[in-house]
Order: sequence, then structure tokens, then C-alpha cells
Amino acid sequence: MTRPLQAIIDTGALRHNLDVLRQQAAHSRILAVIKANAYGHGLAIAADALAQADGFAVASLEEALQLRQLGVECTILLLEGVFEASEILACSEHRLAMVIHRHEQIEWLRAARLKQPVEIFLKLNSGMNRLGFTPETYHQAMAEVRAIAAVSHITQTSHFASADEADGIEAQMAVIHAAFSAHAHPASLANSAAVFRYPESHRDWVRPGISLYGGSPFADTPAETLGLRPVMTLHSRIIAVQTLQPGQALGYGGDWVAQHPTRIGVVACGYADGYPRHAGSGTPILVNGQRTRTLGRVSMDMLFADLSCVQGAQCGSPVTLWGDGLPVEQVAQAAGTINYELLCARAQRVPERII
Ligand SMILES: *Cc1c(COP(=O)(O)O)cnc(C)c1O
Repeated sequence: MTRPLQAIIDTGALRHNLDVLRQQAAHSRILAVIKANAYGHGLAIAADALAQADGFAVASLEEALQLRQLGVECTILLLEGVFEASEILACSEHRLAMVIHRHEQIEWLRAARLKQPVEIFLKLNSGMNRLGFTPETYHQAMAEVRAIAAVSHITQTSHFASADEADGIEAQMAVIHAAFSAHAHPASLANSAAVFRYPESHRDWVRPGISLYGGSPFADTPAETLGLRPVMTLHSRIIAVQTLQPGQALGYGGDWVAQHPTRIGVVACGYADGYPRHAGSGTPILVNGQRTRTLGRVSMDMLFADLSCVQGAQCGSPVTLWGDGLPVEQVAQAAGTINYELLCARAQRVPERII
């Protein structure tokens, strides 16, 4: 028997979530963010299921070229642009759009001898202080890219730091409005949180990521409330059952000690699969479809589930680590992290099963 751990990818849920986003941002085009192996779901699977998106956004030239090799014809945007001058030729050849966020990228563009012009997204740093031209240098950068013959099309872009939090986007929107209204070019601003919470940010292109995969961008709002369905279910089985007597300790470090006789299931899933090692005793988990809790420390290949209250649990019983029936947000919270990190961390050794 092969190791029972699988990432079940529900492509119907991907399509459903894209529809939900279309309804939310009915007047915008959708740039589906599929960087980081489509947030751990598999680039090819996601690109295929999201074929109705208007474009795709990725973090590297490698990902973009993979998409072209898969036959993707629509807009592909490099969210961080090119990392060196030589990548610009490939962008021209493969019709890849690039973010331009610092001055050296403009110089590379000006110096490049391109057969076909390229599309760019000029990025404003409106307060996140990660990428982009400051409001003081933005207009000069715009003038420079407009003067380059090899630039075919310009979109103005910026990114929100707190669209999912109480701070919101107001301060950044003021900076964006002041800078963008000086130029008659289309705009792209919204991540998932802004798509749901701030219609005024939708503009020409929205850039949802986590919500496509059925994750909530908000700490206080379950994905289900937003109408989203989980795409990845991390599924495994019980591979051994132990009965601990009072005083007996469990796993590495013996962190958890039985107070009463306790049946424990050993689950084939560990931190080398991407399950968070920081998820302590009490993290929710489903065994036989019933909600229970993990116990003790997560090992590299295995973890423990409390079977005391689970009916019919035995070797071979199905286990859901997260996904259908157990929102990944709940596991993330128990591990002190966010859904994004858990989905992206799915290890290569965990095979996908597409449904
Ligand atoms: C990752 C990313 C997104 C997607 O954000 P979500 O919160 O996953 O919707 C959008 N824009 C940029 C620039 C990004 O880096």
C-alpha cells in the first residue's frame, strides 16, 4: 500500500470560487493569482480549472513560461517584474506583462532591443513600503516608460497592506487617487480582501489569490460566509492505534500525558508534508468524519489524533487534516499562522488527486 496522504483538489470548487469573484467584481477583469504553485494547489491544475479568468499573475518568469507551455494564451503578469535585464527578451518573446517597480527596470527596458513591444504595470508605493515608486518619483517614472517605444500598454498598479484589517485602505486610496488621476491609464489594485470589502478599489483588473482557493482573507469571517468552497482537502488515514494508560506519555518529548485510558490514532501526515509543527495539542482534526483534536507534538511523517470520542475509529479510518468539513483557517489559527501559509506549504511528496 502507498502512503495514504493526498491533497484532494476540487476543481469544481475552483470554478465556483471564480464565479463568486466575478459576481463581486462584475465590472473588472480578473487576474487570477497563481503564484507559489497556485498557493500549493498545482499550477497546471489551477490554470486549467481557471481557464475562464482574464489573466494570470505569477511571481517568476519560470512560472509564466510554464503557463505558456501549457497553452495559456491570455495575459500573464509577473508581479515582481524581471529580476535581471536578460529576462526582458523572454517577456517580449512570450508576451508576458511585467510590473515595473524600480528605476533599474526602466533602464533595462530602455536598453532592450525588442522585436515585439511589452505590456507593463507601473507600480506605486502607496504606503505598504514593499515595492513601487514613491508618490514623489511616480510621475517621472510614468513619463519615462511612456517615452519608451517598446512599451505597448501601461496599467497603473498598487497593493494594499491592510485591506483585511480594521485599518482598511482609506489612507492608501488617497495616495493612489492623487497619483493615478494624473494619467489616463487603467488601474489594478484589489487583492481578495479588497474585492470583498471595497468595491471602490475594483477598477480595471482585480487580483484575487487566496479566495480562489476557498480561503478567507479575513481573520474574522469564515470562507463559507463569503460563499467560497475549499479547493484543497488534505486527506490521510489512521496507520496505527495505541491505547495509553494513565501516566503514559505520547510522542517526542512526551508533551502529552494520559490522565485516563485513551485511544490514540497515529495519522500519516507530519511536518515534512507541510502540516504545521507549531499546531499543539487540541488542533482540530476529523477522523471518520467526526471532529476531534490532535495530541502531542507533530513528527516529521506522523501526528496523533484523540480517538476517545470518535465512533468506529480503527486502522485505515479516513482523516481530514483540513479542507472539506474542516476549514483550513481553524488549523492555521491553532498553529499561530494563516491559511495562506498552510496551503502554500503543501509538500511535493504529497500527491494531488483531482476531483
Ligand atoms: C499575492 C498577491 C495578490 C493576491 O493576494 P490575496 O490576498 O491572496 O488575494 C495580489 N496582488 C499582489 C501584488 C500579490 O503579491
